[in-house]
Amino acid sequence: MPSLAELGHGEGQLPSVHDVRTDARVVLPDGPVASMYTCGITPYDATHLGHAFTYLAFDTLTRVWLDAGVEVRTAMNSTDVDDPLLERAARDGVDWRRLAEQQQELYRQDMAALRILPPDRWIAVTERIAPIAQAVQRLLETGDAYRLPAPDAEGGGEDVLFDTTRERAFRMGAGSRTDEAEMLELTREFGGDPDRPGKRSPLDPLLWRAERPGEPAWDSPVGRGRPGWHVECTVIAMDELGAPFTVAAGGRDLRFPHQEMQGHHAIALGAPLFSRARLNAGLVAFEGEKMSKSLGNLVLVSALLRAGARPAALRLALLAHHWRDDWEWFPHELEEAERRLDRWLAWSVTPDDDPSHADSVVPWLRVTLADDLNTPAALQAVDAFIARAPADEASIAAIDALLGIDLRSVPAR
Ligand SMILES: [Zn+2]
Repeated sequence: MPSLAELGHGEGQLPSVHDVRTDARVVLPDGPVASMYTCGITPYDATHLGHAFTYLAFDTLTRVWLDAGVEVRTAMNSTDVDDPLLERAARDGVDWRRLAEQQQELYRQDMAALRILPPDRWIAVTERIAPIAQAVQRLLETGDAYRLPAPDAEGGGEDVLFDTTRERAFRMGAGSRTDEAEMLELTREFGGDPDRPGKRSPLDPLLWRAERPGEPAWDSPVGRGRPGWHVECTVIAMDELGAPFTVAAGGRDLRFPHQEMQGHHAIALGAPLFSRARLNAGLVAFEGEKMSKSLGNLVLVSALLRAGARPAALRLALLAHHWRDDWEWFPHELEEAERRLDRWLAWSVTPDDDPSHADSVVPWLRVTLADDLNTPAALQAVDAFIARAPADEASIAAIDALLGIDLRSVPAR
């Protein structure tokens, strides 16, 4: 944990952040506790810069909350049984469990190297099959879900789908500000099978997938099979944090259908609201396209570190972009971040002992970060500060606690 005691724990400002659902700034939390659920990885392409950028955004939010004296509770899932993971395992001839374990371990190492604070609770979907199946059962009982024959399933099983045509507290798409045409397009893109015969709406997502030959499956009250993607996160978040919790967090590509459906599932399961706010981090492109395994344009954190990048420099390279922006990675950005880190390090090694120099960068960091986590402005504030003032312990501690850069332990190049 960052050394917040050195900063004057609790004196920081509560952050105002952009909420996707209301498309407005909101100061969070509205009480003494902040709870955040972050959609975790599907462990088959860990950990590319897009992942790192997303988790760094919510790490910054956590650090700002801690500095403001807020009690923070965080939970995250790992989608350790899912189509892309199973397809990758089948293609490479490896056991899907083994692939998931390896990738989860790699993810954990990369996050630790980047000093991204781990969630309090990190839950693999396969640890929660029973409660997820119970939630699906309940949705069938309330009429929020329906069964659909799955001709390719083992023994003629039935899938369970969520009925999006039912009248609920929120119109479909409202939570992600997505219109009809875009919802249909994204449903198709994310494997939602909009043209499947028998669906009440093309948008209806899968809650439970009956066992298919060669696929993992579990016995459950709703039949032998495995859970759908959105209901997994809904159940894990509600079980770990209660609903409504403060922030549902994820990359912008998750806004529909994934986060949208979580909100609707939660209400159908009896919650007044899933989360107070929904935060979406921007997407990172490389060579002109969104970074993704299927496009083969991943830049992996582990590869950059192996090639000699200092983790703190990589962190600075990512923090140089606003968390809500979509942007493209260019390798020269890492070199610029290494140079910035060198400047900060050189400044930090000659602290000023003169007590009359009471100035520090702390208020500048607090103001910029409370303003929708404006990390680019925070880095510029440090640049400006070190250009005019000698190093002081409070500034060094704040750069550690709020930006996650511990200048006392970063190696020189
Ligand atoms: Zn999720």
